[in-house]
Amino acid sequence: MTKQRIYLDYNATAPLRPEIYAGMKDLLSQPLNASAVHSYGREGRKLIEQARTQIAALVNAPPAQVIFNSGATEGNNTVLRHFAGEKILISAIEHDSVREVVPKAQQIPVNADGVVELRSYEDLLRTHRPALVSVMLVNNETGVIQPITEISALAHSHGALVHCDAVQAVGRIPIDIAALGVDFLTLSSHKIGGPQGVGALVLGLCGITPVLLHGGGQEKKARAGTENVAGIVDFGAAATLAFQNLAAEQTRLKMLQQKLETGLQKISSAIVIYGRDAPRVANTTLMGIPGQTSESLLMNFDLAGIALSNGAACSSGSVKPSHVLQAMGVNTKQAGTLRVSIGWGTQESDIDGFLQEMEKLVK
Ligand code: PLP
Repeated sequence: MTKQRIYLDYNATAPLRPEIYAGMKDLLSQPLNASAVHSYGREGRKLIEQARTQIAALVNAPPAQVIFNSGATEGNNTVLRHFAGEKILISAIEHDSVREVVPKAQQIPVNADGVVELRSYEDLLRTHRPALVSVMLVNNETGVIQPITEISALAHSHGALVHCDAVQAVGRIPIDIAALGVDFLTLSSHKIGGPQGVGALVLGLCGITPVLLHGGGQEKKARAGTENVAGIVDFGAAATLAFQNLAAEQTRLKMLQQKLETGLQKISSAIVIYGRDAPRVANTTLMGIPGQTSESLLMNFDLAGIALSNGAACSSGSVKPSHVLQAMGVNTKQAGTLRVSIGWGTQESDIDGFLQEMEKLVK
C-alpha cells in the first residue's frame, strides 16, 4: 500500500478545491472569448462580470474597481512599474515580485517579530517623501500581519499612495480595501484553492489606473489580452468559498496551529517559531530547528511523503537565505528553517504525521 502524502505548502499554492475542479471541464470546453459579439462571447462576458462581483465582495470594493490579470506577480509589477520613476518605500519583507521591480526602493525595516517599524517608517516618509509605499498585508514566510491601516493613514498624511500585496491574507483574515485605506491591492487565485495563472488588481479611490499590458480593449483597456474566462470564473468561486467560510475556517486553522506549535515545543524547546509574539494568521508557522540545515530537513520530509518549504524557496526550487529572516535579524546559519502552511484540505492527521516525522528527525 502506498503511504498517504501530506501537503503542508499552501502558501506556495493550495490544491484546487474539488467543487471548482468539477465545474472547470465544462467551462474550458467552450469558446468563451468575452470580447466576441456572438452568444458564446456574451456568455463569457456575463460570467466574468459575475466573478468581478464575487471578488469585489471579498475585499469590499465596487466591482468596477476590480481588474482581472494573471496573478499577483503581474499585479505587483503593474503597480510598481507605474511608479518606478518616482520615490518608493517598500518594506524589507516584500515578495520578490515587488523587490525586484524596484531594486533601488528605500526599504522600511521590520522588528525582530517581522512587523514593520512604524517609527522608522514615519521618519522615512518625512525624509524620503515617496510617491508610493508598498507593504504586504500578510507575510508569505512568517504569516505575520502588518499594520496596514496605520501604514496607509501615515502615507496619505505625507501625500503618498499605498500598494498592498494581500495574496496571503485572503481566506485567512477579513480584507476591506476601504477600511485598510489602500489604493492598489493585489490578489491571486491559487493561494485559496482556485486555479493558477489568474488574479486581480483592485483599485482604491485615488483615481489612478496603472496599466502594464497594452494592445487590446479588455478590462476597459486596463489589462489587454483575451480574458482567462474559466480561470476568472473559478477564482470568483474560490473567493466566495473563502469569504463565506472565513470565521469557521479561521477557528479550525487556529486549532490546527495550536496543536502544531504545542507539539513542536514538546519535541524540543529549542525549536523557535518566528513571529510568534506578533499578530499572525492561523495557517502559517515558520520555525527554526537548531543544528539542522533547511536542505536536509526538506529532503527528509520529502522522503517521508510530506511536502513543505523553508518559506524562501524561489522558483528554481533552490533553497536561498531568506531576506525576511535576515530583515528580522535572525542568523539563518544557526538553524534550519521550515514553513508549515495549511489550508482548506488540511486535517488533524496531517499535523500528527508531520509531528511524528519531526520527532524522528530531531531525536
Ligand atoms: N506575493 C506574495 C506574498 C506571494 O506569496 C506570491 C506567491 O508566492 C506572489 C506575490 C506571487 O503570486 P502569483 O503566483 O499569483 O504570481
